Amino acid sequence: MSSADNGPGAEDLTRLDAAELARRVQAREVSSVEVTRAHLERIEAVERTGLNAFLHVAADAALAAAAAVDDEIAAGTVRGPLAGVPVAIKDNMITRDMPTTCASRILDGWRPPYDATVVRRLREAGLVPLGKTNLDEFAMGGSNENSAYGAVRNPWDPARVPGGSSGGSAAATAVGETPLALGSDTGGSIRQPGAFTGTVGVKPTYGTVSRYGLVAFSSSLDQIGPFGRTVLDAAMLHEVVGGHDPCDQTSIDAPLPPVVEAALAGARGDLAGVRVGVVNELSGEGFQTGVLSAFTDAVRVLTELGAEVVEVSCPSFTLGLPAYYLIAPSEASSNLARFDAMRYGLRVGDDGSRSTDEVMSATREAGFGAEVKRRIMIGTHALSAGSYDALYGKAQKVRTLVVRDFSAAFERCDVLVSPTVPTTAFPIGDRVDDPVSMYLADLCTIPANLAGIAGLSVPCGLAAEDGMPVGLQVMTPALADDRAYRVGAAYELARDTASGVPFASTVPDPAALQGAS
Ligand code: GLN
Repeated sequence: MSSADNGPGAEDLTRLDAAELARRVQAREVSSVEVTRAHLERIEAVERTGLNAFLHVAADAALAAAAAVDDEIAAGTVRGPLAGVPVAIKDNMITRDMPTTCASRILDGWRPPYDATVVRRLREAGLVPLGKTNLDEFAMGGSNENSAYGAVRNPWDPARVPGGSSGGSAAATAVGETPLALGSDTGGSIRQPGAFTGTVGVKPTYGTVSRYGLVAFSSSLDQIGPFGRTVLDAAMLHEVVGGHDPCDQTSIDAPLPPVVEAALAGARGDLAGVRVGVVNELSGEGFQTGVLSAFTDAVRVLTELGAEVVEVSCPSFTLGLPAYYLIAPSEASSNLARFDAMRYGLRVGDDGSRSTDEVMSATREAGFGAEVKRRIMIGTHALSAGSYDALYGKAQKVRTLVVRDFSAAFERCDVLVSPTVPTTAFPIGDRVDDPVSMYLADLCTIPANLAGIAGLSVPCGLAAEDGMPVGLQVMTPALADDRAYRVGAAYELARDTASGVPFASTVPDPAALQGAS
């Protein structure tokens, strides 16, 4: 395809946010087919530069879905506020018409028989799935370098990682391959790549977005959430996929917090009466200077918007990281036992000469990458009879302490804020051989997962020393996700008003990427 196919407006469509695209499609100023084609062309152009954000692009299915939405709109039916808008899906959510790999060799060739609940809801709401995005294998990682299909590059600097594990969804959204994407966040995998790529990423309250059809990593921590280039876009996608699902046993049977309403309210730019707590333990020593100054500046903006800022202490947060790296691998070691060479995807050495056990271990040996094997070993050890009390049991106690710290802090504050990550995106290759330094990228995001509460990351400028995006994290009590959207939207507006340029329009140019890679 060439951009000439779409006329002169084609490139512009990939710069528009989802809310505006939806408005234009529904007003029939532009068709969903045109919008979809523009994004498919952008994908083709950008992936050619080696971004590697997509594992599968479903061009024909996307155009057919878009045409169906256009027909409905012409006949007077609009399925939902985002009808006609393209979306990308992290490849650990199952899709009946596209492969699902979890970026692992072990799922080679697997075609899921049904759609994850979130995917079904996207389709029902008239969104147009463009394809499946790259990730760290089984969502284990913080840089996307653990993908069996190669690292994803950061659109802001192709020599750097986009973060992980939802790096494909984040990079694709940042660079305009899609206006919206779904990710999953177990210890920070939406918020951290959101911060690294200058996108908005949200981990909703645990149990408020269905995990049915999300390939399980750590079931008590995993949560699906939205990426967008604006807070409102993320809220609109959140509202499409969220809400009770009887197919997910941990789904909360409660109304979804009014996230879109809150994002719209926030955009009126007033935070009077909102009590914002700055978490002492989540800044300071070990944090990159440019991250700290962007964060401090963001807190100043919140004050100017009328928020009342206080400092809070959550002493157990420093133990969150080691606790997470016992709990998550423990659950993973159990969840990944289902990849036994019998039920899904890859099977190695099944030539009649080997026992079932031998085929199973040959398949796992060939099918799982190094990080996945490391997690299975750590988890199996932490759960073993001799280590359970000292490792897994203790980690669960820390989890309770983290929950208590949050409860105490939320007595004094409506939301808590921190930098989303201690540093900006690091160079590809820098941390991949040093898992502990990689794990440190999750320092600020893990507490919210351990407690099951909500967290949003909104871009708060670029770090002076490297020009890379920085994220402001806003955390709220469980089922109060709307507060994060209100604060995020108010901040976003003030940020753009101060700089005079909407940050969401500063999409990196693929031509520049090509030159640099
Ligand atoms: N980086 C963290 C890990 O490697 C978080 C992953 C995630 O949230 N899926 O486990």
